[in-house]
Amino acid sequence: MVQNEDNMNLMNFNERFPNEESCREYLKGKRVAEGVVCKKCGSPKHYWFANMEIWKCADCGSRTSLRSGTIMEKSHVPVRTWFMCIHLMTSTKKAFSALEMQRQLGMKRYEPVWFMMQKVRSSMGKRDKKYKLSGNIELDDAFFEIVDLEEKENDDEQKRGRGSNKQKKVLIMVESEPNPKQKNPNKKNRSMGFVKMVTMDDLSSIGINYEVAKSVNKQSSLLTDGYHSFARLNEVVANHKAIVTPSKEAHKKLPWVHTVISNAKRLFLGVHHSIGKEYLQNYLNEFCYKLNRRNFESDLFDRMIIAGANDTWY
Ligand SMILES: [Zn+2]
Repeated sequence: MVQNEDNMNLMNFNERFPNEESCREYLKGKRVAEGVVCKKCGSPKHYWFANMEIWKCADCGSRTSLRSGTIMEKSHVPVRTWFMCIHLMTSTKKAFSALEMQRQLGMKRYEPVWFMMQKVRSSMGKRDKKYKLSGNIELDDAFFEIVDLEEKENDDEQKRGRGSNKQKKVLIMVESEPNPKQKNPNKKNRSMGFVKMVTMDDLSSIGINYEVAKSVNKQSSLLTDGYHSFARLNEVVANHKAIVTPSKEAHKKLPWVHTVISNAKRLFLGVHHSIGKEYLQNYLNEFCYKLNRRNFESDLFDRMIIAGANDTWY
């Protein structure tokens, strides 16, 4: 078996990044390759001041620190800890809980670990937002278990600590092309492409159409069940086919969207237990990001390291 050298495991992570200095050097190199852009005047011309670890804009003199504009901005956690966290989040099929991540990173406090992971997830979502789905797309809605943390705090003494379990609506879109080569009746006769999952405040047709218009190319063909809120999808895409079928049969007609939903639910239940309603989108981001890159694992780490470097963050 040929081992993919780019596919980084824990051993070569340690070889590649033996200390904080090697991580900072790597981050700097990545940012230079990407192009450092001045926040103030937009100039791409900079001088590097090694002793202060800053770039100075050649045009206006404005400073850019090594971490500014990246997901590590304003964080006091060492760059190597960030790298390790990103590595663990992107190199494994399964997800890590923040508690397990804290243990793996050997960090004293839970909060910075939790915060790091949310930042990474949010950045994953920003990356995926740049891509619009196209072709044949399965679309459906689902309800995910969440905990309303605010309500939990405001609850009376009796309810305290038990939280209030609620559900959040999620819209799921999956590129799904017919695959005539697949002759095995036990396997899906469609092949899965890119996946998007979006939390929704409501499932009105206006809300759904708005999200679909943002996420999907106009020329696409949508495949859904007969839910009434999907009835006006032809206003935002070229084709919409609603399959009216008994719910038992639905998984056959929309095979991928149902697999994606059940895999995400199983993962969240097993790893994260309770997810605050404001953060569900972040967990969905991580799930989709990894699923969407299932065929090119090797550069996940590099992609995330400089994620957001030249984006607007706040
Ligand atoms: Zn400038």
